[in-house]
Amino acid sequence: MSIEENLNKIKNDISKDITLVAVSKTKPIEDLKIAYNLGQRDFGENKVQEFIDKEESLPKDIRWHFIGNLQTNKVKYLVGKVNLIHSLSSIKLLKKIDEEFAKKDCIANVLIQINIGREETKGGIFEEDIESFINEVEACNNCKVKGIMTIIPKGNDEENRYYFKKMKIIYDNLSKKSYKNITMEILSMGMTHDYKIALEEGSNLIRVGEGIFGKRNIIGGLTNE
Ligand SMILES: *Cc1c(COP(=O)(O)O)cnc(C)c1O
Repeated sequence: MSIEENLNKIKNDISKDITLVAVSKTKPIEDLKIAYNLGQRDFGENKVQEFIDKEESLPKDIRWHFIGNLQTNKVKYLVGKVNLIHSLSSIKLLKKIDEEFAKKDCIANVLIQINIGREETKGGIFEEDIESFINEVEACNNCKVKGIMTIIPKGNDEENRYYFKKMKIIYDNLSKKSYKNITMEILSMGMTHDYKIALEEGSNLIRVGEGIFGKRNIIGGLTNE
């Protein structure tokens, strides 16, 4: 199926208040342009260099989502260019983002990545560490947490649903409280093979790559792992 057919199909599946991030990692600029010309404005990338190259060659009204593992020494390249960082996964990274965005008087919008499946190979913080992590967020000046994100373990529909439900409970609990620098607006979960279940369980932002652009044939897997 073409990018156009894929995009139309997904948009038909989801309601208007859901944000669809088109995950374009490893895909050529031409593919992003096709999606852009069909009205797509939210794009997700997971490598800093690739993101910078694409950001420079595409229209400025694109909202870029950084969804990959982010090294602290590369944070500076995202300042002023990225709309939302989904992969905030350590206090060290939080402090670096706060520092680099402050240098240019910018605000960083971020999601806390939760390692809901407690997988050693994946990034994100554990549930029991959220509270202390929040204390650090409250001490920031240039970071605003807009919600939470997860990459769930590989599994069947039932297992996927279990983890999405867990995320929704965390999201709802955080929504009830009031913290400095934190508002719960975005629950980022669901990808090509599980976004329907994620939406049923309360996701309001899905990140879809292969389901839009087709299979990635190079090392374009989950480099967030
Ligand atoms: C690659 C990636 C996606 C998209 O995965 P697909 O299976 O291609 O939809 C979503 N989120 C993250 C963090 C990714 O790295």
